[in-house]
Amino acid sequence: MAKVLKCGDLMPGCNVVVEGKDVTEVMRKGAEHAKTAHGIASIPPDMVKKIQAAIKDK
Ligand SMILES: [Zn+2]
Repeated sequence: MAKVLKCGDLMPGCNVVVEGKDVTEVMRKGAEHAKTAHGIASIPPDMVKKIQAAIKDK
């Protein structure tokens, strides 16, 4: 099932929505977005958990 992550759930004020065919793809795209848009070079483990919790079925 396709998954979707609203970046604004984690980064207030950001209206980017990351979509992927599964959690792995959303995480990969999310990491890329965090790097380019938010300057987060590598996502710390506690944030990975928050991201995983914020990923919803599309
Ligand atoms: Zn964002």
